[in-house]
Amino acid sequence: MLNSIKRVAVIGAGTMGNGIAHVFAQKGFEVHLIDTNNQVLEKAINTITKNLDRQITKGIIGEQDKVQSLLRISTFQSIASGVENIDLIIEAATENSAIKKDIFKQMDQFANEHCILSTNTSSISITELASVTNRPNKVIGMHFMNPVPVMKLVEIINGKLTDEVTTYTIVELTKTIDKIPCVVKDAPGFIANRILMPMINEAIIAFSEGISDAATIDQIMKLGMAHPMGPLQLADYIGLDVCKNILDIMQEGFKDDKYAPCPLLVKMVREGNLGVKSGEGFYKY
Ligand code: NAD
Repeated sequence: MLNSIKRVAVIGAGTMGNGIAHVFAQKGFEVHLIDTNNQVLEKAINTITKNLDRQITKGIIGEQDKVQSLLRISTFQSIASGVENIDLIIEAATENSAIKKDIFKQMDQFANEHCILSTNTSSISITELASVTNRPNKVIGMHFMNPVPVMKLVEIINGKLTDEVTTYTIVELTKTIDKIPCVVKDAPGFIANRILMPMINEAIIAFSEGISDAATIDQIMKLGMAHPMGPLQLADYIGLDVCKNILDIMQEGFKDDKYAPCPLLVKMVREGNLGVKSGEGFYKY
């Protein structure tokens, strides 16, 4: 199965989708990048071009690699046409269960029978997404980290019915794109966000109580715990809306209020202060 994965579709061309498309194209895969929003698709190609240029400057790739990578990416506005003859789909659309279920139904309907259906979801149950398809054994989580071209980890999440061939194929594929797979079971937030999000939430609570300013809180975690980035700056990069969504899903999934998003986080999201993407979060950009 592994050797037969040559053509990959990525659904959602936002922050994560363009990074995933970039990595697969650079490693020689034909990539179909799909988004309902044409402006997002144009922006994604610009971002990928800029990031490839940065890799040239750093001596990681040559000019020809950039040209070839860009030639391997085609853009589509419809899932039906974009997933035709594709071997693996990676869904990286908005973190919303209803949106993802609708996309999974379409993926199942329009993709070849052999195609593996994966999702980059940060916290939504793989088993639940698999349940709307007729191939739950071929549904799996591939949780990439941001920024995708730089970060090595891919958290691989097995749904209840994911079969061994699918897991093996995705683990080996992850290695061929120079990433490191870590396999976990399906549970709200999986491992990465189950541990990261309570830390970010606690940092926001401490900030809202006035215990310290944002820069000092971040500095303490950078110097004291050797984290490359403090929790508040990291939350700005992830997107405060994304952080809130993940906490909501963990609170509901575990039926435990210890995951409840801090009132300040809820307020910032409501007011549109989402971090880097909106120009303001705990810092100004
Ligand atoms: P984003 O908002 O930047 O991009 C989502 C894109 O999905 C948008 O461009 C939107 O137009 C598109 N979309 C929505 N509905 C669609 C549909 N029906 N068909 C096609 N495209 C559709 O979001 P993001 O930050 O890239 O997150 C995407 C996924 O990756 C989410 O599940 C998120 O939880 C996960 N994730 C995010 C991060 C992060 O740091 N941002 C890290 C790991 C995983």
